[in-house]
This record gives sequence, C-alpha cells and structure tokens, in this order.
Amino acid sequence: MWKIKMVKRYNLHQFVWKLVVFLVPCLWISCARPTFRIFEKPVIFDEQRRALSLSYLEERHGIEQESPGITPRMVVLHWTSVPSVEKTTDVFMSPILPPARAAIAGASNLNVSAQFVVDRDGTIFRLLPDTVFARHCIGLNHCAIGVENVGGESMPLTNAQVKANVALIRYLHSKYPIEYVIGHHEYKDYIGHPLWKETDPHYLTEKIDPGKRFMRKVRRRIQDLRLKGSD
Ligand SMILES: [Zn+2]
Repeated sequence: MWKIKMVKRYNLHQFVWKLVVFLVPCLWISCARPTFRIFEKPVIFDEQRRALSLSYLEERHGIEQESPGITPRMVVLHWTSVPSVEKTTDVFMSPILPPARAAIAGASNLNVSAQFVVDRDGTIFRLLPDTVFARHCIGLNHCAIGVENVGGESMPLTNAQVKANVALIRYLHSKYPIEYVIGHHEYKDYIGHPLWKETDPHYLTEKIDPGKRFMRKVRRRIQDLRLKGSD
C-alpha cells in the first residue's frame, strides 16, 4: 500500500516537472519579440553618385561638405508606388535620374533613393548606409533618413509594415539624434523650419505618401519616444 502511494506520488511529480519543462520554453517563445533584422541590398554608390550627392547638398541645400554624410535628425516615411522590393531597387540603382523623371531633373541629375525599403511582409532592406545622403525628400534630405514601403494608393500598406517601421524607427532612434518622424505628405509643413534647406522656394512637388492612416498607426506605437512630427 505504502509502495503504491510512493509510486503514484513519484509519477505525479514527474508529470508536473515534464509539464513545466515543456511549457516554459513554449511560453518564452510565444512572448518573445520577433527578431529585428535588416537585410543588406545595396544600390550603387560609386564616384558618380558621390559627386552628384555632394553637388545636390551644395546646390539644393546650400551645404558645402567634403563627404556625402548626414547626421540624421528625422525619419521620413514613404510608399514606393512600385509593386516590389526588386522593382524599387531597380528604380534606385542608377546614380543618374532616368529620362522618365525629367520633371525633377532641372533640380539635379542625382537619382532618387532611400536608405531603407520595407517589403509587404515587413522585411527590412538597407539600400544605402544609414548616414549616407539619399535624395527622397525636398528640403530635408540633408538630415533625414528615408524609409520606403512597398505599396501605394491601390496597394494599401500592411500591418506588418507598420510593425517593421516602428522597429526600424526605434533602432534608428537608439543610434542617432532622431527628433522627428514625418510622412512624406507632411514635408511642406517644414518650410521655414530651422531644418528646412532648399535654395529654390519654387522647387516643390505634391506628395500623398504614405498617408494619414499609416502615420497614425506608426505614431500610436512610438508615443513613448516623444518624437516630433507634423503640427
Ligand atoms: Zn515619398
């Protein structure tokens, strides 16, 4: 009788212990944050792009410097209006603006680009080093990191992209003196701001990306960073 009780108790202890050993890793895995990863997918940054970046800095922003580096103070979010990461990198790859962009060629022959592009599933790709100049936002390129998101008016940005943008902003905020996060459609609110630098007051384009809805979702998740945006 005593022996049977001992066996039962032992089996119960063994069962509970096995349950704990099984459940703890499961709970840890389900509660753990997804791994933050950036995949490198560089566009060409050769001597020509370097020279065009320096002349953009000088002619458009009125900034003379020897290397095309920036001190990031702002993150500007965009959508691509292009349906894939591959097509986006194709568009940004050449240092020179293609003939199709004649409307903005008068301002500079430097091709447009951005430091990052976020795919529809939230995968983050780095196209240029964080602190290398990219042409993505009139008046603010000299201090702004550009984040493109694959999508557009007929392809609304996804919740996975919201989460990835939030994680990327947190990462950039931890590395650089980022004070502002704006959507490209809000850039004109910065005309006259101390950060605004554009030598031609008439060089302005109309932008609707990435839209109020996306910015609202991102801003709600980074409230604790107390970043400034569009007033
Ligand atoms: Zn844009």
